[in-house]
Amino acid sequence: MPELPLTGACLCGDVRFEISEPLVSAGYCHCTRCQRRTGTAASPQARIVPGSLRLTAGEELLKAYEPDDGFPKVFCSACGSSLWSLFPADGSIAPVRLGVIDGDPGIRPSYRQFVAYAAPWEPIPDDGLERFPERRP
Ligand SMILES: [Zn+2]
Ligand SMILES: [Zn+2]
Repeated sequence: MPELPLTGACLCGDVRFEISEPLVSAGYCHCTRCQRRTGTAASPQARIVPGSLRLTAGEELLKAYEPDDGFPKVFCSACGSSLWSLFPADGSIAPVRLGVIDGDPGIRPSYRQFVAYAAPWEPIPDDGLERFPERRP
């Protein structure tokens, strides 16, 4: 296990944060929104213990894209880095994007969700991870 807190930052480095508890679970999301949001075939992301993420810099730069039918997606308005999404019910932080965490996050993706929408141009790797056609239950 890496030392806590985990730290992370956006691409420009003006948004910084700490996560004080070990990450709960991690997986790849193959949904169409994540493809658009990231420009990639799938988004690796991790659930956190509620309340364990604390901003240490750049709160004023945070913006959220709020789709009508999905979780608000928080990003750095200076550099565009995807940071995390929010649970619509209470606005708490939902999955954090693994790529914005510094170093080893101490967890590995263990599932793939929304594989029914996987990009046609990249086969889903035969990595033995559990697959869910829609959102992981
Ligand atoms: Zn930034
Ligand atoms: Zn997704």
